[in-house]
Amino acid sequence: MWVDTPYRFFVPHKMSIILQMTKKIILILAIPVMVAAAGIFLYYNHAMGSGRTGQVVGWLNDPSSRPELMMTSGTRCGDAPFIFPTNGMVGFIWDDSFRPGHRHAGIDIFAGTEAGVTPVIAVYSGYLTRKADWKSSVIIRVPGDPLRSGRPVWIYYTHMADAQGNSFISPEFPTGTSEVFVEAGTFLGYQGNFSGNPNAPVGVHLHISVVEDDGFGNFKNELEIENTYDPSPYFGLPLNARINSDTIPVCE
Ligand SMILES: [Zn+2]
Repeated sequence: MWVDTPYRFFVPHKMSIILQMTKKIILILAIPVMVAAAGIFLYYNHAMGSGRTGQVVGWLNDPSSRPELMMTSGTRCGDAPFIFPTNGMVGFIWDDSFRPGHRHAGIDIFAGTEAGVTPVIAVYSGYLTRKADWKSSVIIRVPGDPLRSGRPVWIYYTHMADAQGNSFISPEFPTGTSEVFVEAGTFLGYQGNFSGNPNAPVGVHLHISVVEDDGFGNFKNELEIENTYDPSPYFGLPLNARINSDTIPVCE
């Protein structure tokens, strides 16, 4: 706030010229900053798919407002090989970006409930492994990819724990479980909000991805999109953000 004092009228002439120049320099310096800020804003809007992000936020504020966005656990879209793993809305899809340079390797399904309430089931039969330090995750090996015979694939499920890391995974699959056969539809656990940081939990959801085998019977790093397959044909849903930029996927 400008405080008007008599002093203002006694600023020497030179001083006022310097003040004018300083103002100009600040303005010139501010322009590239503003342009950069606008660029970052546009990048985010584009990368996040502004249409979808807005719908996700709106739905999470009031899930009952748009029941048509809700998918039901166990649903099969058309003749897709995988069934749907849980009740909820597909908020973010494969190759969405949450920050510059980031590419989402799976899909996020939001229950709209508290953590530990909404069940998660296996989308396809296979052999379940839960590593010794996995609080919220399981992975299921499918020996024969239903879409391309001869190659194995892995299906990764995560965020099944609370913010503190208390697991919601079924007691049938304790840590250290290795290669236990499960049928499609088997109860795996409940959606949670575990992020690894108790002070910054994620919104309650399931993250699921289809991961490549390394050729030696192990799964590749599931967090890198290059190691995952586009899940669209597996679920019979438009789950590729490069093709579907702004629509919440539901069964046709
Ligand atoms: Zn995710």
